[in-house]
Amino acid sequence: MLCKVFCACCNGLEINTITVEVSVSDGIRFFLVGLPDSAVKESQQRIESTFACNGFRFPGKRITINLAPANIRKEGSLFDVALAIGILCASSQLPEPICARLSEFMILGELSLDGHLREIPGALPIIIHAKEEGFKGCILPTISAMEGAEIDGISVFGAETFSDVIQILLSPESAESKIVTPQSVIAVSNCTEEAQNYDFAQVKGQMQAKRGLEIAAAGGHNIILNGSPGSGKTFLSKCLNSILPPLSKDESIQTSKIYSVAGLLGTETKKENHYGGLLKHRPFRSPHHTITVPALIGGGAHGLPGEISLAHNGVLFCDEFAEYDRRAIEVMRQPLEDGIIQISRVKVKHVYPARFMLVATMNPCPCGLFYEKAGKCKCSSTEIIKYRRRISGPVMDRIDIQIIVRAVAPNELIATSATNTNGESSKKIAERVRTARHIQQQRYIRNNESFLTNAAITPSKLPTYCKLHKEEAVFMEAVINKLNISARGFTRVLKIARTIADLEGSQDINIAHLAEAVSLRCPEKDEMI
Ligand SMILES: [Zn+2]
Repeated sequence: MLCKVFCACCNGLEINTITVEVSVSDGIRFFLVGLPDSAVKESQQRIESTFACNGFRFPGKRITINLAPANIRKEGSLFDVALAIGILCASSQLPEPICARLSEFMILGELSLDGHLREIPGALPIIIHAKEEGFKGCILPTISAMEGAEIDGISVFGAETFSDVIQILLSPESAESKIVTPQSVIAVSNCTEEAQNYDFAQVKGQMQAKRGLEIAAAGGHNIILNGSPGSGKTFLSKCLNSILPPLSKDESIQTSKIYSVAGLLGTETKKENHYGGLLKHRPFRSPHHTITVPALIGGGAHGLPGEISLAHNGVLFCDEFAEYDRRAIEVMRQPLEDGIIQISRVKVKHVYPARFMLVATMNPCPCGLFYEKAGKCKCSSTEIIKYRRRISGPVMDRIDIQIIVRAVAPNELIATSATNTNGESSKKIAERVRTARHIQQQRYIRNNESFLTNAAITPSKLPTYCKLHKEEAVFMEAVINKLNISARGFTRVLKIARTIADLEGSQDINIAHLAEAVSLRCPEKDEMI
């Protein structure tokens, strides 16, 4: 008898439906064909053991299993349950209604030897794929099914054991309690939320850096804080987390899919004080400067997404940017420009989204004191130039906002503490950021654009959204000539000016907006080497 069960496999974020065809006939051999890797081939042992625990017998006949389509590589142990169900159906060990219902479900999961189901990676994109393909339901290990709790339009069943899977297939109507819903998402209370630990109200002085970070958050611009050790640039950068606008559902699904494929969605949602469902906060990734290139951009043996993709729709924070491996800095050029990264593996290419805000800090020179009082820095100009060249011109050019952060002057510290007026709270700044983002989204959605933030405006659309009136154009021309701004630099200035105008609620870009954008883009020339 021939039987078909449906499951799926992930190649990066691309999901393919896999049809497991099982035929049982006379003979005594077990064949598994259709480009399976060793983990798939080993499934026979796990299935035999599960059958023994659940009172089924492994047919002592000729069993042929084909995983179709044959040209796609099948990796991992997520096909176990589908193979087991297929073997039982093909050897007539399951009631007829189950075999008739198999075409309505996508079934996935790894079996343990006692018949329990183990978590699989990529559950969220698989559930979304099953919905798009018109399947009525998905049956997954409970812990993986939780990832699809907030996806509507498909019934996602969570099964603890192999016999749960059979119960669900036997009568999906009476197994409704096993369907995961938004209510299944569990609140985890004992975690501390990092955002609460960093608030702009705690930062004294540093008005320009705060303003720069507010503009960066409002328009999704990349930013680098260049300053002395102890000037608070790391703390300032971490405060950014507290003013970022909330994730929209679409953005959350995009980013959650990447975490799901990396097998990190459960861990990440736990950090966000809930378990299951989608990510609720923008990611804030801060890889250490010793990170390897594959860990940063993705790849390795399984082609998993790297830090820049895990930061999609959020922030990639690189503290001490000049200390990173030079190659790691250079590979960020393509994603900084296009918002995607291509990873090549043997025979396969994966494309992952990687539209992140780069937030970096660096010292101005090897000793770090270049911007402090004259005479403090003892570095030679050759040393300083060599140090700054660690970040190449093309990468620096892609960082929209560049700010010099000096240690707060003692009189400024005393002035702010004497009047007991701390800086503005993150909550207030976040409101302005949210309004500015809303203005951008409305504008770009109305015109059916592919981007939603000012930082992502494509070159061809720049004249439409960053139009300058005559007076402003004359002003910019003079500035370009005086400061020798490159063509790319000019487009960045326009985008920043657009964000400043949006923060003010102004439709037009005026000279004040442009002047501030230039000052954020090009720190005073005499301070640079
Ligand atoms: Zn120095």
